[in-house]
Amino acid sequence: MTGPSLKIGDYTVTAFSDGVFETSINVTVGVDKQMTQRISGKSLTDPVFLSVNAFLVEGRGVRALVDAGTGDTMGPELGKLPENLVAAGVPLDSITHILLTHIHPDHSNGLIDGAGAAWFPKAEVVVQEDEIKFWNDRDLSQAAHDRQRKNMINARRSLVPYADRTTRIGDGEFLPGIHAMKSPGHTPGHNTWTIEGGGDSLIIWGDTIHMAFMQLQRPEIAFIFDTDPEQAVQSRLRLLDRVAADRTRVAGMHLDFPGFGYVRRGKDRWFIDAE
Ligand SMILES: [Zn+2]
Repeated sequence: MTGPSLKIGDYTVTAFSDGVFETSINVTVGVDKQMTQRISGKSLTDPVFLSVNAFLVEGRGVRALVDAGTGDTMGPELGKLPENLVAAGVPLDSITHILLTHIHPDHSNGLIDGAGAAWFPKAEVVVQEDEIKFWNDRDLSQAAHDRQRKNMINARRSLVPYADRTTRIGDGEFLPGIHAMKSPGHTPGHNTWTIEGGGDSLIIWGDTIHMAFMQLQRPEIAFIFDTDPEQAVQSRLRLLDRVAADRTRVAGMHLDFPGFGYVRRGKDRWFIDAE
């Protein structure tokens, strides 16, 4: 699926779907499970379907993809990003950059196909230094648990074909009008990408929110996927505050496709509006 496009200065940003991820509300940590059932209206075993989105940023001689989807690692309902790009007339070898929000299976496993070859043969991979250090550079014995170890193995495998064209960054402007800013906690180098120009801007906020139907009511809800749940909550609150105050449009990898919206603060909860 190809979503609508936004014009931000000289850039056009288009939402692409990688597919739908099935999970449940039983993946929360540090909060009362009764409360999560009450505010979501779901039982712990009800299926929850989350969009997995990526965003194509085109302009100024750049064709950058923000995140790469799941590849063939998460089942038949996912891994649709390459075919959706091609169907929209975007050859995969025309992608100049993969701007990662973070290294997690649903964002970076899609760098490669099932045989381990690069889906994006000419793209430069761009990732926060803290992020690639954590997933790629540490010894596997340093993994906190099995799932983290598995993610470290997948990260390495996905990055191999890009080894000589991977750029490690810190915060700041990476390309004209395209800025990186760390928002850590979900992962150590979880990154937001701000696209700006012509007095307008958009923050592609990665996994700041996973389950909008719960976390807009209670942003303190964290998930087992968060490397540091408390820090993830602080980063979420900081970003929600900021984008609500200055009315910056956001794009989210797990907001319902196409994943664009404006954050608004209500009396006792947050909202995301289409306009
Ligand atoms: Zn994710």
